[in-house]
Amino acid sequence: MQLLPLRELPQKLRLFAKYHLTHQPARGPVADDELGHALLPFDLAAHYRALEHAPARERNELAVVSYGGVDYPILALAGGAAPPRARARLLVLAGVHGNEHAGLFAAERLLEEAARPGSVYDHIELCVVSPVNPVGAAHGSRYNGDGRDINRDFVRLHTREGRAVMRAYQRFRPHCVVSLHEGPQQGTFVFGNSAVDDELAERLTRAIAESGAPLAAHDYFGRTLHPPGYAGQSRATVALLWLWRQLIGMAATAELAGRDHVAELTVETPWRLDDAEQRIAAQLAAVRAAAEHLARR
Ligand SMILES: [Zn+2]
Repeated sequence: MQLLPLRELPQKLRLFAKYHLTHQPARGPVADDELGHALLPFDLAAHYRALEHAPARERNELAVVSYGGVDYPILALAGGAAPPRARARLLVLAGVHGNEHAGLFAAERLLEEAARPGSVYDHIELCVVSPVNPVGAAHGSRYNGDGRDINRDFVRLHTREGRAVMRAYQRFRPHCVVSLHEGPQQGTFVFGNSAVDDELAERLTRAIAESGAPLAAHDYFGRTLHPPGYAGQSRATVALLWLWRQLIGMAATAELAGRDHVAELTVETPWRLDDAEQRIAAQLAAVRAAAEHLARR
């Protein structure tokens, strides 16, 4: 019989409170290495250059955030099919947490992939928002310049970054949202909100596995995933998310879309993994699977 590791309980509760119950967990864009993070060699100036040269149909500044006397734009880049030809609209959010770098690299490559004729993006209008949290990305931090977690801010919208995402969402009116994240678990998985159907979940997990990335058997709360690689919403999680919103005043991007019955996929690649290519490939495979699902409309 395995005994509950009670010794670890205070530490687990402290981490849970820090990541899920605290509105301003840090004093600024501090590094956060408690959970075995392998940072990739990400450089924000190089990211802006890559986005400037990426084959986008349009580039807009959604907002500018300032920190330490430096201004950092949050960009919205249009890719894939132009509106009259597009069958559906797909919104991709990269770098909501500034230290989860695979999604930022994936955003650059996604625009290249979407510009290649013959890809699924011939039928899908893409809006790529990157970097959602530029100050965090510049400082290798989960948090923004005020030490806030943007992916907890979709009730009160304290952060300029959260308001920028809201603006992109309201202007673009996506049929699906994919938010590119990373986490401390082994393997890759995707959180789906209540608007994700079984077929999309199945398509996603198959695409991620085929990209060469092992699927996670457990999410980072330790819940067993059925099927591996996919964490959907049960009645219990819907109730917990309701309490989170009502009592703590917190919600993630998944709930923003869920209110409109729009599917939102939060891709979580393993940040402990040194293999950057596998992390990036899994992110791209998840976005492509969402696009393929939408293209059947
Ligand atoms: Zn994240």
